[in-house]
Amino acid sequence: MNTRYNLKCSVCNQLISIRSQVSTFVDSYIAIIYCGNCKTEIKIKITDVEVELLSNSIYSPVKSLDDSSDDEELFFIELAPDFFTTKMKKYSNIKNTTFETPFLNTISDIKHKNYDEYMKKIMLFLVYQLDWPKIKTINDLWVNKQYEYIQKYAEEILDKWGFLKEMIKLGNENEIFEIHRYLHYVQFYYFAKILGNKMFYKNIEYIQENIKKLITTESGIIFLDFFSSSNLLDNYENKLIDIMNDFNAIFIKIIPVFSLDYFKDLNLENYGMTSVSFYELISFYEKAYENLIEVSMILIGLNNIRHRNNYDELRDTTKETFTEFIEKDKGKGAILKEKFLGDEEFDKFIIETFDSELRNAFAHRDYHIDWIEQSLTYYSKKSKTNIRIFLVDLAYMCMKIMYTVVYLNEIIYQVKRFWLLKSSPNIVKNIMNHKSKGLNDIQKFKNKQNIKNRKKKKRK
Ligand SMILES: [Zn+2]
Repeated sequence: MNTRYNLKCSVCNQLISIRSQVSTFVDSYIAIIYCGNCKTEIKIKITDVEVELLSNSIYSPVKSLDDSSDDEELFFIELAPDFFTTKMKKYSNIKNTTFETPFLNTISDIKHKNYDEYMKKIMLFLVYQLDWPKIKTINDLWVNKQYEYIQKYAEEILDKWGFLKEMIKLGNENEIFEIHRYLHYVQFYYFAKILGNKMFYKNIEYIQENIKKLITTESGIIFLDFFSSSNLLDNYENKLIDIMNDFNAIFIKIIPVFSLDYFKDLNLENYGMTSVSFYELISFYEKAYENLIEVSMILIGLNNIRHRNNYDELRDTTKETFTEFIEKDKGKGAILKEKFLGDEEFDKFIIETFDSELRNAFAHRDYHIDWIEQSLTYYSKKSKTNIRIFLVDLAYMCMKIMYTVVYLNEIIYQVKRFWLLKSSPNIVKNIMNHKSKGLNDIQKFKNKQNIKNRKKKKRK
């Protein structure tokens, strides 16, 4: 259902016509638009039955579009929390201009099959999101080192999601190895619901196989000792948890970007989003970037083992060792790019996420935002030109950050697993016993998904 409203900006009296589409996912949402004339921010709460102005502007129902004269110029914008929508534009003859709805536009572009897949993904994640308060509690307990309460909560959630039955008990109740494993699977299954695709599972499997190979080499064992003697791994985990918590708050506002991969070619000049502001995304990106710089040190170490058989030997762009580099407080971000050139094995998990020029522009507030065009322009020293990105581009980058977060979380989990195993001989024995049964946890998860899909197909 689509509803039209006319608003009047209370600052400059500009008339703005909006058309909002009821969401499939949420009962109400907050749209953020800007007055086409004076660029003042207007926040609107949209529900199935009414529109409530939260800031600026006056709702003017008196003047419907049909009453406006043909030559009257007015701004028009579409609102929808789950689709890309037509950006604000001035029309001189809006009465006679027809617009397809965001829903029809999307479906004609990405086709029914992809549309169903996109819908299913979002719906399922929203169901999982109902458990977020508990997941957040588990995360907090872990960060605060209140380990004894974690397993109970984690088991409840895994049971609800249908995974508990398949988790083989490897250690005793409240053994840190087990608590860590339960924490990890709650985090993993949660984000896999929304991020999971072919490439995602391929990367997860790659990580599981390769970390094991690298960590059990002579150089890997020394690397493990280096990390075990510091609290770096705990610190990295907490930094990733930080990003997970932040992402959960913006997810609902960037839903449309999860459909972006299905579009062949979406014209971002004309289509945008109205459920999130640049500032919210900038603050997420900035903080996540800082955290990821620290956490990605582990990738550098792994590259060193993989390519030079020595965790302390960096690729030869600098003279320092890994240990010296990691102890630096400042300037890591600026030179980090040199460490991830894309030609070493573990670069692929971070390279898409790092844009140091964009991050610097954000940090120094060195950018210009065009609110109506939904674009942000910053100067690139490297290419000596202005670079323009759209709100949708930035939201997409924020989504990509989550892939990196889950990959890094998997890497740290796998590394830490070996470290914890060193002090748990009983668990090593149990793992060896279960090995004959084959199938690791991720494969089981994937199989379970396949079984579910097959069942659904049969029912049809
Ligand atoms: Zn105005």
